[in-house]
Amino acid sequence: LSTLLIKNGCVYDGLGHAEIRASVLIRDDMIERIAPNIDAHADIEIDACGKCVTPGFIDIHRHCDIKPFNSDDFGYAMLAQGITTTVVGNCGISMTPFSTDHVAALEMHNYYDPVLGPAYTPDIHTFPQYMDALSLRPLPLNFAALIGAGSVKATVKGFADTPFSKDELQKTRSIFDEALMAGAAGVSVGIMYQPECYNTTRDYIEMLKPLGKYNTVVAAHIRDEADGMVGSVAEMIEIGKAVGCAIEISHFKSCNKNNWNRDIYKAIELIEKARADGLDISVDLYPYDCGSTSLSTLLPDTFVAGSMENALKKLGTPGGIGEYRRLGAEKYHGWDHWEKVLGWDRIIISGVSNAHNKKYQGKSVAQSVKEYGFTDGCELVGYLIHDECGKTALINRTMCESDIEAAAKLPYSIFISDSIYAQTDTPHPRMYGAFPKIIRNYVNERHLFPLETAICKMTGMPAARMKLDRRGVLKEGYFADVNVFEKCKFKDNATFEQPAQLATGLDCCIVNGRLALKDGKPTSGNFGRLIRINH
Ligand SMILES: [Zn+2]
Repeated sequence: LSTLLIKNGCVYDGLGHAEIRASVLIRDDMIERIAPNIDAHADIEIDACGKCVTPGFIDIHRHCDIKPFNSDDFGYAMLAQGITTTVVGNCGISMTPFSTDHVAALEMHNYYDPVLGPAYTPDIHTFPQYMDALSLRPLPLNFAALIGAGSVKATVKGFADTPFSKDELQKTRSIFDEALMAGAAGVSVGIMYQPECYNTTRDYIEMLKPLGKYNTVVAAHIRDEADGMVGSVAEMIEIGKAVGCAIEISHFKSCNKNNWNRDIYKAIELIEKARADGLDISVDLYPYDCGSTSLSTLLPDTFVAGSMENALKKLGTPGGIGEYRRLGAEKYHGWDHWEKVLGWDRIIISGVSNAHNKKYQGKSVAQSVKEYGFTDGCELVGYLIHDECGKTALINRTMCESDIEAAAKLPYSIFISDSIYAQTDTPHPRMYGAFPKIIRNYVNERHLFPLETAICKMTGMPAARMKLDRRGVLKEGYFADVNVFEKCKFKDNATFEQPAQLATGLDCCIVNGRLALKDGKPTSGNFGRLIRINH
């Protein structure tokens, strides 16, 4: 057994208590002792004088489900941020179940590629198979997983908008049950997305029944995060109460200018009333005022008319641009038309695939229209979508800082990254910077709350939410996932222009008692483990 001693640091327990000056003795993968002036001899000694010693961070909302199967270095972005545990399978999207039928499998890839990344087709079809396969892969950090209700629906009944039959609901329930038995942390729903958008509230109450037994968590990408946000939160409360499960509202936010500084408070009121009634409901958020998606989401359905291929062709002609301009100006119900609800100055071209379009990258549509002499936003956007075959990424500044601040300060809110693994050179900076950004920006610069509160929202609270056994807290007898850093040096470097920048200033990151990052540099080891949740 190896021993590791972290000497004389400012120790934050992850439960929100103020720091204490102490040393931490680790034996093998566990924390053996936390006390001032531990005098033991250890194989490795780390001088933490003047430094913070915290539990490893826990990102319960990352979409790296497939990465252990097709990438060797995906862990760096997380370890450099101090993330030692992640929970995948969010927003209704999990790698399994995965149909054995060829056509259904293709449909499934189109469904999850933009979130989980390029297709991977191993012989993994059920959730228990996914867990078994993960447990055999080298993992840079600890993994737990939710099962996605969207992936289950795609497997049970495809992408049709027809109602669930009794039989289909029963099948869905048994797949959830099987996943929970195999150690799933809970179920995620992505009600905004196909094919879940056709589900009724009643459908969810019926299908989620197996979760009521264990007060298991349902992580929810709600039905509408813009004009219908408050009603969508109410829907989740109704489901939680009827099923008897816990509810986690994922990436809690209020999109679109007209709703700012108002709807988030209405939703908070509903949530606090439900909490007072005994519902176990909480929220999480990422520390940025922007989302990211594909530029082609700016095209109305009426323009695409069922064929993206044809839409791309049309945009190569002045007539097609005119049609897009005309249809784009119409009113739509239930569709966030970024041009209308945000304005071209809040839509930023973030990722282009052709070198000759690089000049647009990092600029708003409004700015480029002016600088490069386009008639209007439609002309520029139409040109880019056509020229890049729809592979352009946009950043939409849909949120406002005061709303985010209100959510961040809630005693029941925790932090996530919501990293998406679509293939692009310009991902959302949250992938590389979300966790240190909390410390740099929210604690050091803006003083929104003390460091112990920020740490608690990134460690003890997410661990409790996902029932991660003996993790997220620095305590004797707990797993040794530990970070050591200087409060003012640990920072994010990822920006919208240069997103793929690792965080810097983390001295050590320890995963299960082993140094995964030393002096800011990753060691070669994979010390993470698969975590199965006992319900
Ligand atoms: Zn989501």
